[in-house]
Amino acid sequence: CGIVGYAGERPALQIALGGLRRLEYRGYDSAGVAVVDGHEVVACKRAGKLANLEQAVAELAAAGADRGLATGATGIGHTRWATHGGPTDRNAHPHLSADGRIAVIHNGIIENFAKLRAELEAAGVELASDTDSECVAHLLSAELAELATADHAEPVAASGELAAAMRRVCRRLEGAFTLLAVDATAPGVVVGARRDSPLVVGRGEGENFLASDVSAFIAHTREAVELGQDQVVVITPAGVEITDFAGRPAKGRDYHIDWDA
Ligand code: GLU
Repeated sequence: CGIVGYAGERPALQIALGGLRRLEYRGYDSAGVAVVDGHEVVACKRAGKLANLEQAVAELAAAGADRGLATGATGIGHTRWATHGGPTDRNAHPHLSADGRIAVIHNGIIENFAKLRAELEAAGVELASDTDSECVAHLLSAELAELATADHAEPVAASGELAAAMRRVCRRLEGAFTLLAVDATAPGVVVGARRDSPLVVGRGEGENFLASDVSAFIAHTREAVELGQDQVVVITPAGVEITDFAGRPAKGRDYHIDWDA
């Protein structure tokens, strides 16, 4: 339902939680965050209000099990409005790949999820939720493995392997989606993608933002880029790079947000 991403120098957790608060008016049943710190993805998610998530985050910190959740400067946050799978902790986003390397959040509906889940299960992947969304984390993981080994034609260099994997996965998805992903081996990188569901970039100084709605980052920047249909975006602290699903350079619509939030 609500999506926030951040790559910069400040703690991503607080930016994600603040952004999700600004999107709360849309309604939701669960919330979650994932932060990359060092070379680890740390995720926390809960059914119910953002306060439940904040309490879970505080408990992790109190138990000394925070693992960089509060300090990492790359992260994603999600509020869920369940369409496939009940509103439980397990079904809340982010969803992680089996090795914990990739975390994904998703708005919308992946129409061909049953086929994709069946394919993953046949390959021995154990799915941890009932959602249509989780398959994207496992598919990204499989594509990354493929990109690391295979003799492939995908242009990888410019925007990194995670973006290349995202393009390959998006070409297989049917339905409406805004997706954000982070990779434990790529601190400083958040990859987004969209089809029939909104995604906007917020351009900052030494930091960049992604969100389903500009209100999530308007407290930080008013320079926005609305992504076009079937585009993939990579944000890092230093820049924003957009391609289409085939990997060709693409442009969004740049604009200045001049209304008061
Ligand atoms: N279809 C996904 C789910 O049920 C995403 C729902 C949303 O847009 O929040 O988990």
